[in-house]
Amino acid sequence: MTTSAERHEYKAEMKQLLHLIVHSLYTHPEVFVRELISNASDAINKARFRSLTDAQMLDRDAPFEIHLSVDAAEQRFTLEDSGIGMTKEDLMNKLGTVASSGTLEFIKQMKEQNATLDGNMIGQFGVGFYAVFMVADDVTVETRHADPDSIGLRWQSDGKGSFTIEECDKATRGTRISFRLKDEAKEFSEEYRLKSLIQKYSNFVDFPITLNGEKANSVRALWQAPKEGITTEEAHEFYKFVAGDYQEPLGYVHIAIEGAVNFKALVFVPKTPILRPFAQDLDKSLHLYTNKVLIQEHCKELLPDYLRFLRGVVDTDDLPLNVSREITQTSPQMTKIRNVITSKVLSLLEDWASNDAAKYEEFYRAVGNVFKIGINSDFTNREKITALLRFESSTQAAGTLVGLQGYTERMKPEQNEIYFFTGERREAMLAQPNMEYFIKHGLEVLLLTDPLDIVIAPSIPSFEGKALVSIDKATLSSSPQSNESTPETTPTDDSSPLLALFKEVLGDSVENVQSSKRLVESAVTLVVGKEGLDAQMEKMMKMMDSNFTGGRKVLEVNMEHPLITKLAAMQLAEPGSPRLRQFITQLYEGALLLEGNMPSPAVFVRRMTDIMTEAAS
Ligand code: ADP
Ligand code: MG
Repeated sequence: MTTSAERHEYKAEMKQLLHLIVHSLYTHPEVFVRELISNASDAINKARFRSLTDAQMLDRDAPFEIHLSVDAAEQRFTLEDSGIGMTKEDLMNKLGTVASSGTLEFIKQMKEQNATLDGNMIGQFGVGFYAVFMVADDVTVETRHADPDSIGLRWQSDGKGSFTIEECDKATRGTRISFRLKDEAKEFSEEYRLKSLIQKYSNFVDFPITLNGEKANSVRALWQAPKEGITTEEAHEFYKFVAGDYQEPLGYVHIAIEGAVNFKALVFVPKTPILRPFAQDLDKSLHLYTNKVLIQEHCKELLPDYLRFLRGVVDTDDLPLNVSREITQTSPQMTKIRNVITSKVLSLLEDWASNDAAKYEEFYRAVGNVFKIGINSDFTNREKITALLRFESSTQAAGTLVGLQGYTERMKPEQNEIYFFTGERREAMLAQPNMEYFIKHGLEVLLLTDPLDIVIAPSIPSFEGKALVSIDKATLSSSPQSNESTPETTPTDDSSPLLALFKEVLGDSVENVQSSKRLVESAVTLVVGKEGLDAQMEKMMKMMDSNFTGGRKVLEVNMEHPLITKLAAMQLAEPGSPRLRQFITQLYEGALLLEGNMPSPAVFVRRMTDIMTEAAS
């Protein structure tokens, strides 16, 4: 070799990350085998895809294989693939830096929170290659890219401060990784140990893997097998392989469709959203195969947005091998495939919801906040999705989730609306004056505490013919009269002189003042009339737009409340009393305070102090 090696320092962040990997991820060091094989498999997939269209590529006819060799006496480990290889830029950018700048922060945070941070998870952070430094002090990567004019390159590093790159002799396309195992990791140079690891982690690699010259895996496109032909265990192992998850999936569907569109698919529902909180995760999806050849990883068009937590593979003969992004985005075949997958997955979820509530709840708690946005985007399946929504309920224990189906089954015979209430905390919501009527009459109210629920609630006008109504809505006209026919709260007389005075004092700040049917213990409350949004919706609008003022509300007055009857008497005795006007303002602002919309606490407290001063004297 004529050139001498160039030395490059790792960036500070990279050094910290390497340190963390070597010193914190000490469980499951064996995952380095999985990570290296998975990288080799990725690289071969890329080479195979390129070979379909590029006649000039280096070693176009070379077999797509992974060769492992170990030497127990020397504690040596070598893995070689005929994949796409790496250019000098790749070595600098892909092996020398962290792909996502959030990775380090994330791992640090997990460590601080004492979360189980084990080696098993390393692949999920997009730094799988560095798992090798758990078992080796010095690593050599020799590689040659598939470009016809590429050269052989050698990358070497001790995984601490720096790495070197130099030219080397490498006749064939692909990558060879080699190192001497640390003493405490020498088991990984034992052939039998490695063989079992390949079986455990890499049985689903699409390419032959050999170990010291002998075949070590069974290449099998699992999704092509007949449904009865695969066991749950096999399917779960396959999931771990494609999703890079270390947990079992919650469940899966195996699809084989022939007709207007032809495809086979294995689609999995993960137990928890895969752990990477980085933006690129939103781009994850199912892998697209054509005739067993991987043609697009994470093909987003295969899933609607609200099902993007699914993982797995789809294999179809209906698309050309050299399919481009443009084709997958516009092809009617893709739309058909997506529709079939969507409906199969919804059926699976429906099945859980009716036959295995605990499993469905686990699903909903894990990814419900992605799933529920389907209400606003998938109009074809809106009814199904609506039935799959879950909420807390005023009549069920805290933490229990209910669906609309269950709610309607529990409805009182005369009740023909489904009530909901949006807010932040269950306890605070149950204590709101607007809940009093519903609690008194034993009417169930859905408690929507997730901010997303506030966005989706307006998209569910009704369920099985029953309208969804926010309890903040002013008219309880169609309100359920419970069986024992509660006497209409006595003074329905909106022409009472006291209410007229309320209107005069509050003027334009309210839409209207009226007597209340819903209050039991409180004196007044604000509800939504013709103009306003419900309180929570209004809060959200304000968060998004600081100039948003919100609509005016209707003030409802509990004519039976002792304070109100006293005020009415006071009005009779002393019609022009300034104190009475002060009380009215105070009551109104108190209602604003409960809504979280109090404009000036200082003025409110000063007025309260004045009132108390007078009462005390
Ligand atoms: P990830 O696989 O999640 O991208 P890794 O740390 O495992 O993260 O690998 C980093 C990158 O290094 C890969 O994305 C790939 O570009 C490159 N790489 C690693 N191993 C190989 C290989 N055997 N052949 C070609 N490129 C490789
Ligand atoms: Mg990898």
